[in-house]
Amino acid sequence: MNIAVVGLSHRTAPVEVREKLSISDDNIKDSFDSLKENEQVIEVSILSTCNRLEIYALVKDQELGVSAIKEFLLNHSGLNKEDLYPHLFSFNQAEAVNHLMRVSGGLDSLVLGEGQILSQVKKMVRLGQENQSLGPIFNRLLTQAVSTGKRVRSETNLGTGAVSISSAAVELAQLKLGQSLGKDQLISLESEEVAVIGAGRMSRLLLQHLHAKGCSRLTLLNRTLKRAESLASDFPGLEIKCGLLDGLDDCLKCSTLIFTSTASESPIITAERLSNFERKTILRLIDIGVPRNVSADVSDVSGFEAHDVDDLQEVVARNQDARQKMALEAETLINEEANTFLEWWASLEAVPIINRLRSSLEAIRKEELQKALSRMGPDFSARERKVVEALSKGIINKILHTPVTNLRAPQPSAQRKEAIKLVESLFDLGVSDNDP
Ligand code: NAP
Repeated sequence: MNIAVVGLSHRTAPVEVREKLSISDDNIKDSFDSLKENEQVIEVSILSTCNRLEIYALVKDQELGVSAIKEFLLNHSGLNKEDLYPHLFSFNQAEAVNHLMRVSGGLDSLVLGEGQILSQVKKMVRLGQENQSLGPIFNRLLTQAVSTGKRVRSETNLGTGAVSISSAAVELAQLKLGQSLGKDQLISLESEEVAVIGAGRMSRLLLQHLHAKGCSRLTLLNRTLKRAESLASDFPGLEIKCGLLDGLDDCLKCSTLIFTSTASESPIITAERLSNFERKTILRLIDIGVPRNVSADVSDVSGFEAHDVDDLQEVVARNQDARQKMALEAETLINEEANTFLEWWASLEAVPIINRLRSSLEAIRKEELQKALSRMGPDFSARERKVVEALSKGIINKILHTPVTNLRAPQPSAQRKEAIKLVESLFDLGVSDNDP
């Protein structure tokens, strides 16, 4: 059995490819069904976020398993091989485990150490459980990934500071405003006419950061008015005008800065929609939706300047040095957690022989106990029988304790195999039909 991950991320693919691979909550069950149908796949989990789609699987054969997942991604994306395969990465065994721990710790994120990825890894666990695609190995692997993410946030400096895609989006707006004034610095947004489209988790973070960066009033549009109003009510210090998406054209006319963060599958702002507007001042659109909420052709329309998640690289790069140093602390912790899992996984190799040894000793114990009890005759009370039985069990458990601990202890695979062989031959434990 092998662990493999195949996927793509902001490191390997631009947003126009990533958005074709994104799996919405509505389609997730079909994706699990399709992956589970493959005879190579034993356990599987899917991590789908705005910056990555990764399929982790326990497969029978490394090469065939990876090919099966690539085939799934090809069918799911509708792309052809030439357009998709160059963007895919894959890791096996220890590298795959290490990658998952790094992802969960936020070390592979566009914004190093951002916190949303941990919620997304938790969601991956939930989806795997709901779709019955996790077995003992992936349950353990994913639980360890979540605890790694938590440890990075609580035990290293990387987790400090409210960093997220949303905070980077607000910084990008500040930077672009500064650059338009000929300054390479972040400028306060207090004089901007701001609108936020969408009222989900990312919009909440946008509001927090906008408030922190000097914005005092904004328009908040959402498909559902109630959700926008509920979000607005959590920001008493901000003057927020809530509305439905049919107010978008007014925002496109009057705003100077619009953030879009809806989970719409298709763009809500297109060049065609903007063609009727004549803007005297630039309207800056910052889109953190994946799939994108603002279509790529918008940048060609005069009076509009559009940025997508990939453009956040510009602000991320400015803060990267300091965060890279903090990331180094987290790497040690990540390796520790990955090794803990790998040692546990390797120790499973000894489980069949331990089970056979236990069964063999148990059979001897029962047989000898039976003989002894029959020799004692009927005078032996039920209580005394229990004491003798407990004694026999206690002796077996004590005898087994050291060899079992040694067989499962971390050690090179060749050494464990040698020990397994030795136990097999010393106790005459031939291969049983019940072994995996
Ligand atoms: P979320 O909490 O689920 O909120 C989704 C928002 O999108 C809600 O306001 C929802 O409106 C709206 N929406 C859903 N379908 C829509 C449609 N067909 N037309 C118009 N509006 C629609 O999602 P989120 O986590 O904030 O993510 C929003 C976007 O940001 C996504 O594209 C996501 O990929 C991207 N993103 C997310 C993260 C992250 O860490 N979560 C990071 C970066 C980027 P209702 O209230 O009416 O349902």
